[in-house]
Amino acid sequence: MSRTMVAGNWKMNTTPRQGHALVRDVLEKLGTPPTRVVFGVPEIQLMAVHEQLTDHPGYAVAAQNMHQEPRGAYTGEVSAEMLADAGVAYVILGHSERREYAGEDDDLINRKIVAAIAAGLKPIYCCGEKLAIREAGNQEVVVGKQVEQALGSLSPEQIREVVIAYEPVWAIGTGVTASSEQAQQMHDYLRRMIGNQFGSEIADNITILYGGSVKPDNAAELFAQPDVDGGLVGGASLDAQSFAAIVRAL
Ligand code: PEP
Repeated sequence: MSRTMVAGNWKMNTTPRQGHALVRDVLEKLGTPPTRVVFGVPEIQLMAVHEQLTDHPGYAVAAQNMHQEPRGAYTGEVSAEMLADAGVAYVILGHSERREYAGEDDDLINRKIVAAIAAGLKPIYCCGEKLAIREAGNQEVVVGKQVEQALGSLSPEQIREVVIAYEPVWAIGTGVTASSEQAQQMHDYLRRMIGNQFGSEIADNITILYGGSVKPDNAAELFAQPDVDGGLVGGASLDAQSFAAIVRAL
């Protein structure tokens, strides 16, 4: 399968009706997409969007979180098996907003990744440094540690299911994007890291997305980098025209 994909992360935006209209508009604009396209939608819309995508090859739906345990007394939570049974293909894990607001760390994220894969989901694992770390030039050390903690214990079979999303925290929702050189440097570092542990065949095939203020006017340059396989798109995924333009840029 090609490494490329574009995933939208709607976060806590859109009512079910608005979400339905947004997916309809993207389908109208893109038809059969030139690459994998994933909608990361609020939990309450997962099944409806999955149904809406029936007979539309190339599209899939992603959850934005899940619980690490398979079942039990965890009020308000959703398990990997529930998501898989509802037709969900991907789950975004380790997003910086969940690290910040829900206190998730890479040990917990590792447990979620393992549970997701066991249920047949593909985790989109988000990593990325804060501004102070970038300014101190320590981004590779910090992101390397995140990846080591979250993915280091996986088997070769497990890592094949993972999509990595490099999302510098200072670029998320800020309008400031990493330069294509900054993105390429980190993606190359991550691919080499995966290669060192899991071998070059796995490293050559793993999808590494860039996320952080991807817009129609910067997507082509970012996606032209050899190790940038596509994008995880927040704000711009809420507008069908922008999202379609970003997909076309790939
Ligand atoms: C995100 O939240 O994953 C993201 C990349 O957001 P934005 O595109 O709005 O920066």
